[in-house]
Amino acid sequence: MSAPRVGVLALQGDTREHFAALRDAGADPVSVRRRGELDAVDALVIPGGESTTMSHLLRELDLLEPLRARLADGLPAYGACAGMILLASEILDAGEGERAALPLAGIDMTVRRNAFGRQVDSFEDDLKFDGLEDPVHAVFIRAPWVERVGADVQPLARAADHVVAVRQGSVLATAFHPEVTGDRRIHRLFVDIVTGRA
Ligand code: GLN
Repeated sequence: MSAPRVGVLALQGDTREHFAALRDAGADPVSVRRRGELDAVDALVIPGGESTTMSHLLRELDLLEPLRARLADGLPAYGACAGMILLASEILDAGEGERAALPLAGIDMTVRRNAFGRQVDSFEDDLKFDGLEDPVHAVFIRAPWVERVGADVQPLARAADHVVAVRQGSVLATAFHPEVTGDRRIHRLFVDIVTGRA
């Protein structure tokens, strides 16, 4: 495959950093804000930001069900922080009513929103990451953690005894933000997943 066309869901959040990281990792990033753009991508990154706002906008823009359908159909995806929350099949502390974070069910897992936030808002840690030789410097900002994973889900990293990175098939999620550190190994792993090399 030549450079895969990787969409970045650009409703809200830190999209620009993912564009740079994806380019460095050999992909051709494009913004996704509407249905036609979603239909045209080989893979999708869901950035960090605010999962409740993104859920609201996905619904307003009629993207929620099309995105769920593409994920059910095997669209490779990577979600960071708020993106991890949205990729879950179940969200704890999702918020209430109209403003709740809505699960897209890309990965069979239960995540707790703002889980670390109840102890400490933001922190950084060097984590062992399955398949990567050197530790990953992980930046957590009001991050979720993973409380349950399904049988087909591979936990890839832990922080303070909680799972904070997972992969199920071609869907990857991290509770932290690799796009802000300049370390491109996680984006490279995702691009390798998209091209079938990993
Ligand atoms: N706490 C945010 C949410 O619930 C996620 C924070 C982030 O993406 N850095 O979506």
